[in-house]
Amino acid sequence: MTPASVRLVADRVVTVANDVIIDGAVDIDEQGLIADVGPETALGPPPPDRRVIGGVLMPGLVNTHAHTPMTLVRSVGDGLPLQQWLTDAVWPREGVMNPDDARVGMMLGSAEMLLAGVTTSCEMYLFEEQVVEAVAHTGGRLVMTPGIIAALHGDSFGTGGGRADAVAEFARRHHDPAGLVTVGVGPHSTYDLTPAQIGDLAALAGDLGTFVHVHLEETSVEHQRVIDQHGKPATELLADHGVFDVPVLAAHGVWLSDSDRAILSAAGAAIAHNPVSNLKLGSGIMDLRATLDAGIRVGLGTDGPASNDNLSLWQELALAPMLARAKHHDAGAVDAATALELATSSGAAALGLPVGRLEPGAPADIVRLDSDHPTLAPGLDEELITTIVFSGGPHVVTDVWVQGRHVVDDRTLTTVDLEPLVADAKIRAQRLADDS
Ligand SMILES: [Zn+2]
Repeated sequence: MTPASVRLVADRVVTVANDVIIDGAVDIDEQGLIADVGPETALGPPPPDRRVIGGVLMPGLVNTHAHTPMTLVRSVGDGLPLQQWLTDAVWPREGVMNPDDARVGMMLGSAEMLLAGVTTSCEMYLFEEQVVEAVAHTGGRLVMTPGIIAALHGDSFGTGGGRADAVAEFARRHHDPAGLVTVGVGPHSTYDLTPAQIGDLAALAGDLGTFVHVHLEETSVEHQRVIDQHGKPATELLADHGVFDVPVLAAHGVWLSDSDRAILSAAGAAIAHNPVSNLKLGSGIMDLRATLDAGIRVGLGTDGPASNDNLSLWQELALAPMLARAKHHDAGAVDAATALELATSSGAAALGLPVGRLEPGAPADIVRLDSDHPTLAPGLDEELITTIVFSGGPHVVTDVWVQGRHVVDDRTLTTVDLEPLVADAKIRAQRLADDS
């Protein structure tokens, strides 16, 4: 292993879920990987750059389902049911969005996420080149799954050009597991595309050695419509078309049945749980306990900032266990450590990434929390994880490293100047509203 170039010394280091090191330190090498982690007294001699920063260090949060350029349509259409929200409010504004708008919207959302300690996001969106460009500026980690939507790409799935080929070409250029960008394939949903089309796109994902990211069972209306149209629920349809022959990340899963969950579990598929989006759009409450009991890997997601309306993931972190407890009338249904795991290591595993835990060899995606902030105090060791989960928030995040790069320093982005970015985003958002 390369020798460490930096040592961060903190009061506490949360390596994963329930594992807390007292007076801990993290050594980072020149590649931005974690060289060592543990109580400082147990580590070797420090590198020349030893920084005593105090506070709590923990893995960066992983947002497994987002459409981040939608920051430019944040809060649009509040109160409308999902289908009407999409067709009457969201799509008209998105329809007049140009590639440069998407780049600025992504930069704004990426800045918001980094400042909140969200170091990775999995994006399903069009304008994939601009999304990559934006995150290259902010310094975040990106899993890009270019969106494929029937209304836009319906005639172009076959060979000889079209969207599928463009996605394949994009993946070959940008997929870089050792760097900050990986690529998946993002067919929108079974209510938008035909199961056969999604099957073809899954085969493409298989050829590319990557995964499928698809919306699944978000609302009762969508659930029933697929059954009316095809005679069976969406999960069975996808299974019939070989979609689960490749890794799948399914967003939502609110209306899954036990037999659907059995299919997902047997296939090793993962679910992106978006409790805030599901609550705001009135879609329902996903049964997190049943999903975990079925052996399905779960990550947390914000969904787009028009249905949330923020990208920080801290609300999801607190709400996911609370909703599971309310649904099952059981305060022990999902504990705080499990919730933290969903937001970090489990979400990362759902995306096939080695982040989400602080351990030697993992990329140094690290967040520092101000443990002296009144919100986190007194934060006794016995209660530390519970305090972080239910009492944390973007306001306690002071510093963020992505692959060892210090991208947020004392609550300030080091990569992008926020003031002109926000001003630019406001002008563009107004234009989308005026022109739609
Ligand atoms: Zn979504």
